[in-house]
Amino acid sequence: MLRAFLKYGLWFLLGSLILCSFSALQKGIVGIPFHLKGFFVPLLFGGLCGLLLNFWREKWRKSSTSLLESEQRYRSLYENAPVMLHSIDPHGRLLTVSNFWLETLGYSPQEVLGRKLTDFMTESSRQLAKQTIFPMFFRTGSVKYIPYQLVKKNGEIVEVLLSAIAERSADGHIERSLAVAIDVTEHRQAEQEVKKLAYYDTLTGLPNRTLFQDRLGQALAHARRNNSKVEVLFLDLDRFKGINDTLGHAIGDEFLKIIAQRLKECMRRGDTVARLGGDEFVIVLSSYSGDQDGATFAERVLETLAQPVKLAGGELCSTASIGISIYPIDGQDIDTLLRNADIAMYAAKERGRNNYQFFSDEMNTRVVEKLGLETSLRRALDRGELFLFYQPQIDIQSGRIIGVESLLRWRHPQEGLIPPEKFIPIAEETGLILSIGEWALRTACKQAREWQIAGHTPIRMAVNLSARQFKQANVIDMVDRVLEETGLDPKWLELELTESLIMDNTVETIMALTDIKVRGIHLAIDDFGTGYSSLAYLKNFPIDRIKIAQEFVHGLPGDGDSEAIVEAIIAMGKSLKLNVLAEGVENLEQLEFLTQRHCHEVQGFYFSRPCTAPEIGELFTLGMSKAGFCLYQDRPGQSLH
Ligand code: C2E
Ligand code: MG
Ligand code: MG
Repeated sequence: MLRAFLKYGLWFLLGSLILCSFSALQKGIVGIPFHLKGFFVPLLFGGLCGLLLNFWREKWRKSSTSLLESEQRYRSLYENAPVMLHSIDPHGRLLTVSNFWLETLGYSPQEVLGRKLTDFMTESSRQLAKQTIFPMFFRTGSVKYIPYQLVKKNGEIVEVLLSAIAERSADGHIERSLAVAIDVTEHRQAEQEVKKLAYYDTLTGLPNRTLFQDRLGQALAHARRNNSKVEVLFLDLDRFKGINDTLGHAIGDEFLKIIAQRLKECMRRGDTVARLGGDEFVIVLSSYSGDQDGATFAERVLETLAQPVKLAGGELCSTASIGISIYPIDGQDIDTLLRNADIAMYAAKERGRNNYQFFSDEMNTRVVEKLGLETSLRRALDRGELFLFYQPQIDIQSGRIIGVESLLRWRHPQEGLIPPEKFIPIAEETGLILSIGEWALRTACKQAREWQIAGHTPIRMAVNLSARQFKQANVIDMVDRVLEETGLDPKWLELELTESLIMDNTVETIMALTDIKVRGIHLAIDDFGTGYSSLAYLKNFPIDRIKIAQEFVHGLPGDGDSEAIVEAIIAMGKSLKLNVLAEGVENLEQLEFLTQRHCHEVQGFYFSRPCTAPEIGELFTLGMSKAGFCLYQDRPGQSLH
């Protein structure tokens, strides 16, 4: 304050002095006598002039320093700020670029100055700039957050958000554009990663269900506008579960990746292949990717998948079942098309796998029927519609009934008697087999115990156990509980398992079988010969009995193949010290053939059809009072119910 006062005072004095001396000098020259009063005006005027002079001097000094400072700041910003700054002329040529701009893109100033900004853009950004952004900029004088892709000297792409304002001349023309670009590459990558997680399957990199639905939606919209068709293929690998279970999930995953790659290679631009989960894939063939024919395409896919897959552990082969639904005839919307393709895929499985099927209305009727059965099966147990039949098993040597097999029956209130082949697969699929199976085991064990209590010689009670039941975690507890509740000695119980179930050879299976065995429960392999051909497991597992599948017995005698198979099974059973029972014996010739080959036991219509518990009781009384099965031979194939 004092400084300013002194400074302005000095300038006042200086101004007064100059003007006074000038006035004195002027008066001296012209000879006017010197008078003090005459100096008052120049003193005041000179002082004021001095002050004014100082004021202008200060102003000039300030403006020139601030210009200098602003220029320095500007330069420093261009040199040091970690931002991509540039300016371009109205022709889009770069006038200035910040150091960070150069560093980010990897160029030297000589390589960029004077060149067009669009030269450093990807093709799509160049189009965007030329067609949309530049015209908009010249119209409005500014643009904000425009997503551009710039290309580094090494070819990498930098994603930026660019904002620019125009610098205009006095007459309002745009002289240049000042711009700042923010590098958002990492952000975009993270965004894409999130998008990838949301829309792509992490294992195979294929689109997932969400993206698939989106693409199918687009294809349908296009087809609606153009009156064209869209085909949806539902593909499920055959027996992939076996690969996963036996070779482990790591190999299973590798396998899926290779399959996904092969499917991708079958695709044309505009088609979509997606993974729905597990070993299920879906494909959309739309007319805008060319004239598509689902059948030809499915054949190509099946052919490609049939090539062996090389993996660390060796070579694997897989086939697939494909179902095809077509818009508009099989459905108008995503859900219906997908569901119908799925139904068709199941039909392909039923027809022996490794083929494709187009959806048909009949398939739908079958599914609806199945659904109906499923609903009534859920109530069947509570409503007492399920019951058991028992079929005797005869020892060939003694002719005595040494066991019975319990066979499940369902009397549907409207449909009548439904065969187990029709409802057991549904029960397995839905998991109802767990409660139904437990009920069947309890009823059978209770019945066996009742016959014992009634004084009949104890016999074996064979109960069929489905794979799903056997795989449940607490199957042994369930069997223990039933045996305890019914009071049946485990040695009178036999569990019938299928070959394929035993064959999966997992630790769990071996442990469960051993658990059953140590309790004294018998184990039989049902329908032997129809499953896997590997016989190695027979000596590893604690099995008591093999039941020759009836399809071989039916060919006896006369059919060379059946004869050879039956003979081989009996011989093998003998050397492995296993009991052999022949199922489905319907006539004397079959019995004689089996007797001559020393088969141990038989079961079939020749002796008795499956019958009710009281009928079996009746048979016991008759059969046990006279030795030998001649008794039953008198009534071949006769139904006892
Ligand atoms: P399976 O265990 O092989 O049962 C033998 C089937 O052969 C029975 O059919 C029986 O009626 C039939 N059969 C017996 N003797 C002859 C014969 O001389 N000629 C002919 N043509 N057939 C004969 P069913 O009762 O229809 O049972 C079919 C299948 O359903 C059974 O095959 C078994 O796999 C399954 N099943 C039956 N009851 C149960 C059960 O309680 N639980 C489970 N999980 N499956 C069951
Ligand atoms: Mg059986
Ligand atoms: Mg059988």
